[in-house]
Amino acid sequence: MAVTLAGVLGAMIGSFLNVCILRLPNDESILHPPSHCPRCDSRIAWYDNVPILSWLVLRGRCRRCGKGISIQYLLIEAATALLWAAAVWYWGLGLDGLAAALFGTILLGIAVTDAKHYLIPDEYTWGGLAIGLLLSLRGGVDGLLWALAGAGLGFGLLYFVAWAGEKAFGKEAMGGGDIKMMAMVGAFVGWQGVLLTIFLGAFIGTIVWVPISLWHKRLVPFGVFLAAAAGITFVFGDQIIAWYLNFVTAS
Ligand SMILES: [Zn+2]
Repeated sequence: MAVTLAGVLGAMIGSFLNVCILRLPNDESILHPPSHCPRCDSRIAWYDNVPILSWLVLRGRCRRCGKGISIQYLLIEAATALLWAAAVWYWGLGLDGLAAALFGTILLGIAVTDAKHYLIPDEYTWGGLAIGLLLSLRGGVDGLLWALAGAGLGFGLLYFVAWAGEKAFGKEAMGGGDIKMMAMVGAFVGWQGVLLTIFLGAFIGTIVWVPISLWHKRLVPFGVFLAAAAGITFVFGDQIIAWYLNFVTAS
């Protein structure tokens, strides 16, 4: 029951995330104007704006002009619904589940926006950092210190990498968005999680991007890989770090 409700809430959050993904890169307000068709500009009635269902009922076409509505809307809503349902199923109804669901939603927004526009809006990073620090208080003062250490290390490490990259290559090697993003991630995964996220992000990025870059000469949207790595770290980080420490001390 709680899992189903979380899924419904997640679909609604996903609908809002779609608005953020569409508007934040253009510095548009996410509250005004209300939803409208990107093709014919007509306002979308509430019954045509029901997450997931409306897209399926309308079969991806605007009711007024009949032009296609991107399947991205459906996919984001479905993914966010699954994310929220899974978070409550795995962590239960509580602040841990809420932290997981919010963190996953922010990472999804960052990944899609960075892949499409090569930028990470401050709303996700600074906003997410504030949410992460606030939720860390569920662990009391220790929780807050843990989150602050993570945020500080995430910011500091990527700031250093960006500075060193610019010195070495004479051009911007890493965007400011990635630096702020790792501060946000650190507030959710702590300082050990930051190290794991950067390692995994570089690893996944290399494996996925090197073959792609042989065909396409495109920039690397590093935020996409950092987002995937941060998600893995949030869920499996403790096990991976325990396994690694065990491996190091055994050899
Ligand atoms: Zn239309």
